Amino acid sequence: MMELLPWHQSLWQQLQRSRRQGRLPHALLLSGAEGLGKLAFAQSLARSVLCEQPDSQGHACGHCRQCLLLDAGSHPDLRLITPEEGSSTIRIDTIRELVGGNTLRVGEDAHRVFIIEPAHAMGQAAANALLKTLEEPIPGTLMLLVSAAAEKLPVTIRSRCQLLRFSPPAAEAATSWLEQQGISSTDAGLALPLAGGAPLKARELASSGALQERQALMEDFVAVARGQAQAPGVAEAWLKRKALEPLLLIMAGWLMELVRNKLAGREAEGASPLQSLRDWVDLKELYMLLDRLNEVRRMSANNLNAQLALESILLQWGHITKGVN
Ligand SMILES: [Zn+2]
Repeated sequence: MMELLPWHQSLWQQLQRSRRQGRLPHALLLSGAEGLGKLAFAQSLARSVLCEQPDSQGHACGHCRQCLLLDAGSHPDLRLITPEEGSSTIRIDTIRELVGGNTLRVGEDAHRVFIIEPAHAMGQAAANALLKTLEEPIPGTLMLLVSAAAEKLPVTIRSRCQLLRFSPPAAEAATSWLEQQGISSTDAGLALPLAGGAPLKARELASSGALQERQALMEDFVAVARGQAQAPGVAEAWLKRKALEPLLLIMAGWLMELVRNKLAGREAEGASPLQSLRDWVDLKELYMLLDRLNEVRRMSANNLNAQLALESILLQWGHITKGVN
């Protein structure tokens, strides 16, 4: 049986109330950032709807005929529509086949569920093909549109779906979930802000080695501020690991984190070594460095000398943090 992610609880209960009252909408738009488990939620909901005897919480029983078909991945009334391999778009033919004639049988007791993920991968034509079905819902059919970029969907589509908005859980809840997943609280504290608070994304970051790499870069960055490392050497070492553009983005992220912390006037969540510098840097100078960074990013298309560009930013960073020790 699929377990519900803890931060899905209230959305789940809300939908289960509707399901029990027979008022489940015919189309839902599951919207929210990557890494919040929207697709898993859609799949659990599909199981709940298709199962013959869901339990009191609405979870699929796991042993009825429908559940066995679901477990085998061969339930005829559940379709997951995603872009074809090697493509980033959902083809109009796929949607046409879905909404056309024989897949959608009208007037049956049985339910059918279609999950479209990511829904914004439908081009205009595919979206138009789907629109008709959203305008004239077919009884017993549940459409689940999953998207981390719902704003890219045509308004006509969005306005015909009930919005189900997924938000990141509180940092404490996310951290304890990550710990249950075998991730140390230190790593959780580092990964969560990077993942925008999305636990699944944080888990991926924490287990991919990306975290360790960023951590090493940040140690250099702090070392420059403390006068323990020189800009030219750091720039050279960094460019051996990464291209200029991603390095600029990472630094911009750190500088914005400092800006946010200064504006909030409090310690941020997590254990970033950057925190120790917060009181040493001037807000105005941080903004100026961010401007400089963006300027370099704009120029970086024109055969910029990456070493010199990065060096100049690190020098300026060392300058505005002068006095830290
Ligand atoms: Zn069942």
